Amino acid sequence: MTSQVFYRKWRPQTLGEVVGQEHVTRTLENALLMGRVAHAYLFCGPRGTGKTSTGRILAKAVNCLGGGRGEPCNTCSMCQAITEGRALDVIEVDAASNRGIDEIRDLREKVRFAPNMARYKVYIIDEVHMLTEPASNALLKTLEEPPPYVIFILATTAPHKVATTILSRCQRFDFRRLTQDAIAGKLEHICEREGIRIEPEALRLIARSATGSLRDAENILEQLYAYYGTDISLPQVRALLGISGDPRAHEVARYILSRDVTAGLRTINSVVADGLDLRQFNRELVEYLRMILLVKSGSEVAVDLTQEELEDVKSICATSSTEQILKAAKLFGGIDLRLDSYSPLPLELALVECALEEGRPPPPDAKQPEREAPEIEPKPIDRAPTEGKTYPPNVEYLRQNWGRAVEALRGVGSKGNLDAFLRNACEPVGLEDDTIILGFYYEFHKEKIEDPKYCHLVEEKLSEVFGQPYKIRCTLIGKERRPPSRGHLVKAAMEMGAMIIEPEEG
Ligand SMILES: [Zn+2]
Repeated sequence: MTSQVFYRKWRPQTLGEVVGQEHVTRTLENALLMGRVAHAYLFCGPRGTGKTSTGRILAKAVNCLGGGRGEPCNTCSMCQAITEGRALDVIEVDAASNRGIDEIRDLREKVRFAPNMARYKVYIIDEVHMLTEPASNALLKTLEEPPPYVIFILATTAPHKVATTILSRCQRFDFRRLTQDAIAGKLEHICEREGIRIEPEALRLIARSATGSLRDAENILEQLYAYYGTDISLPQVRALLGISGDPRAHEVARYILSRDVTAGLRTINSVVADGLDLRQFNRELVEYLRMILLVKSGSEVAVDLTQEELEDVKSICATSSTEQILKAAKLFGGIDLRLDSYSPLPLELALVECALEEGRPPPPDAKQPEREAPEIEPKPIDRAPTEGKTYPPNVEYLRQNWGRAVEALRGVGSKGNLDAFLRNACEPVGLEDDTIILGFYYEFHKEKIEDPKYCHLVEEKLSEVFGQPYKIRCTLIGKERRPPSRGHLVKAAMEMGAMIIEPEEG
């Protein structure tokens, strides 16, 4: 926990100072100017977005002795007492810790008494959804017949948990998650006043990692100030946050989905060069891919993103197919860096795998003509009868159509990626009756496919694709036979015994 010194010190004192909630503050200011103040407000929105701060400003504005309507003067004795939290007539209740009927009964009793000094008695009840049902009912009674000198300001992060009877009594305002620009702007202001020199990139990173909560951002800045003093650099922010919030995880996700291998590898290597924990990096990457997938599937509400981030994600969604995002999420999600969290190889392999043209899904929403690959037509004239069944005559036929057989394995295996595993791992080298001889370039793949559970899956698909039952037999033909299709990186990796994807038990 931090001391929240910055948060308290730099709390907005006027409606105009509240960051990023202009739709709320402008309406309130107009109401104040016209003398139309409601008796119950409900401020909804994520934590750290200014709900209780706005409540306090409102309490000052209605009680200000400065005479003017609208903003509080912040200099009169009433404003100062409220700012300092010693005004008897402004009562803050944390419903999270005072949930019970007794507290609300007590409140109901006291509501009856006119204000001591102020014009209005203002109750600011935070996290009002936490009240127990009896307490909530008791509060409702008060809201139904409020004395003219009382104003209730209810705040909540979960309006859906507030009783509808209470909701209907309140004027509701929805506070928004703050944009990164808004947070960065406020932090910049604080830094200037506090004499803190901070790199712009570092500021952006704090703003980003605060996910829309100004209070979180201010607390992070305060911690940095406590640790590092008045000069704050990007690496320091990274160190404090862990990798969390490193924009490169998002960059890599973008490169994966735009199939930009070069830029993707470069970024991964810069992460490695900075000595970051790749396990954490990958976790963040997968989390981002998950958000992209959610947004792509229309579940925007399920993601915790600022408006800017959401726009970013949407732009990625516009150019990526669901299949493509799913593939990336599966591949990176399946990476296990437990043994060596400093080797980038698994990340690089997954990146390259995602970018492979083979099995490239059609672009989103594009109506594609039927696949152009040659149809497999088992030509009766070519078939040689064997024990009452017919088989393609030669290995050439199988080789020509092998790619399609592999494609058919998409979605097979527990991770649904047996196709990716087999692709570029082997080729048909012979045919003996109903047995296809598969020549593997690496022992590793051969062993996997020889495992009966995978062997079975492959045989099943081959039968489907070629229209008749087949068995397979695996043999090692060596890496020299491997077509040079993947580029040096993956090839080198394979020679080191790496794999593209490891299928798991299905
Ligand atoms: Zn005042």
